[in-house]
Amino acid sequence: FEGMTISELAKRTGQPISYLQYILVNVGEKIDSEFEPVSIDIAELVAMEVGVNVRRLHSNEGAELQPRPPVVTVMGHVDHGKTSLLDALRQTSVAAKEAGGITQHLGAFVVEMPSGASITFLDTPGHAAFSAMRARGAAVTDIVVLVVAADDGVMPQTLEAMAHAKAANVPIVVAINKCDKPAAEPERVKIQLGSEGLPLEEMGGDVQVVEVSAVTKSGLDKLEEALLLQAELMELKARVDGSAQAYVVEARLDRGRGPLATAIVKAGTLVSGQHVVVGAEWGRIRAIRNMVGKAMDMARPSMPIEIEGLKGLPMAGDDIIVVESEERARILSSGRKKKSERDRLRKIDEGRIETLEESQ
Ligand code: GDP
Ligand code: MG
Repeated sequence: FEGMTISELAKRTGQPISYLQYILVNVGEKIDSEFEPVSIDIAELVAMEVGVNVRRLHSNEGAELQPRPPVVTVMGHVDHGKTSLLDALRQTSVAAKEAGGITQHLGAFVVEMPSGASITFLDTPGHAAFSAMRARGAAVTDIVVLVVAADDGVMPQTLEAMAHAKAANVPIVVAINKCDKPAAEPERVKIQLGSEGLPLEEMGGDVQVVEVSAVTKSGLDKLEEALLLQAELMELKARVDGSAQAYVVEARLDRGRGPLATAIVKAGTLVSGQHVVVGAEWGRIRAIRNMVGKAMDMARPSMPIEIEGLKGLPMAGDDIIVVESEERARILSSGRKKKSERDRLRKIDEGRIETLEESQ
């Protein structure tokens, strides 16, 4: 949509130029000529008004790409040790040690390795959060750690997690957990995974397997190495310059500070003071904090941050886009709110029609 003119928009949406001009006037936008390019925000707004679904494609054309840390989600069967493993990994971070532990609960954290490399972990384990975000177009996760308890083996949610990762085309690194237990049978787990169609490295495939214990913390360094190796193979890169494209991973309301959103920047740099639209909400970034609660001027790709200054509470998976003014932010947010209300009503309507047809 970038740099599109009214006349092109009319063609793309199948609406008369006069109607699009009417919409633009209504949102307070002055357009002198139908051949004058409009901004991407205005194009999105017009498309929403006429009921066309839009998704912003962020072009990295010509931009300088730099390596970025992988973003990792932990999945697996209940009680196989996802939460314990995340806690243990969190404690391995150099920054966490220096800061005397991570005080903030952010919904994501970074493990910095002595080598200087780092890994970002999403703190909400389980495939529910993973699929909810995917469904909303937020492809934040680069790698899935599939946790399987060595004394319990492959279970229903292990298979579900595998299916979700596969559907999303996200590579898996297997962590066989609880290897400290006398009943641990890691070899049996590997055979099970292999027979479920997971191509393990030691069987000639490309899925790495690491034996760990969240309790004794053995194998955590090997797991981190495996994740970095996987990331290297994927050549994860992001545009660092230019306006940010980010996603919300968690949001909460703080009594004193108002709505707070944990976000991960996918590309570009998010700068404190910028006007943003977050899902259907808007605001101006009053503060950016990192995972130890330190205020930052800006945030770069793969960095989990907490942002303050939104007017309402966004949802996990919402996109964060930077706009040029408060007015733009307001207009775009109200346009998105109207659209989601219309979509909701249409769904109810469709449901009613179906129910009617069924009862006939
Ligand atoms: P989740 O449901 O996957 O998040 O699992 P939890 O992290 O809550 O762990 C479930 C139970 O397994 C807890 O009682 C943990 O203490 C225990 N557990 C987790 N990891 C290990 C491990 O590596 N070794 C042993 N022995 N117990 C573990
Ligand atoms: Mg848990």
